[in-house]
Amino acid sequence: MSDQAPKRLSVSERLGLVNYRNQGRTDARAHIEVDTSICNSTCSHKCTTRICPAKCYTLDEHDQVHFQFEDCIECGTCLYACDQGAVTWKYPHPEEGRGINWTLG
Ligand code: SF4
Ligand code: SF4
Repeated sequence: MSDQAPKRLSVSERLGLVNYRNQGRTDARAHIEVDTSICNSTCSHKCTTRICPAKCYTLDEHDQVHFQFEDCIECGTCLYACDQGAVTWKYPHPEEGRGINWTLG
């Protein structure tokens, strides 16, 4: 038996281990919808582009927000962080609308 402590993984390394239910599916449906017209009009802080650990929210060179759900790890941060009413979270279908596979269920 090894007496070495298990290696502590960085956030990036942990994200690399995520297993997505929708990976490679063409019929995947978003479990999070973002009204980017709000992001790109009334939102002054665009905080979700900085706090999403999976970088699902991005800013382009014109300061426009874009969102893609495929890499979402379902942490829930954006749902609580957005104070503009732009984020809607739902599970439209138990298979097609889910994000990650949880290791423990
Ligand atoms: S905080 Fe809300 S409105 Fe602002 S960029 Fe993020 S999702 Fe869009
Ligand atoms: S739930 Fe978490 S990972 Fe998914 S888009 Fe929101 S902040 Fe990003």
